[in-house]
Amino acid sequence: MRKAPKAVDPIYLTPEWKVLARYIKQLRGYVCEMCSKDFSKLQHKLIADHIVERKDGGADLDPSNLQCLCTWCHNRKTAQAQKMRCQGVD
Ligand SMILES: [Zn+2]
Repeated sequence: MRKAPKAVDPIYLTPEWKVLARYIKQLRGYVCEMCSKDFSKLQHKLIADHIVERKDGGADLDPSNLQCLCTWCHNRKTAQAQKMRCQGVD
């Protein structure tokens, strides 16, 4: 199986996304929604994540499809999603 090249989705480079990502983090009080840790002093460790991934049909810029995750939880979630995909579960 060939690995797809890891390209940055162009949406993450748009001003709209950057504004929304900042807004979501502020709105959730800089708390990771998975581990509930406070990242207000480590804001660069928090990311706005699509709950339903865009390739699975999730909305791009809809706040209701976004959650605030720290990089650790995000990596865990991504790894799990990839595993599911490899097992052929849609
Ligand atoms: Zn976390």
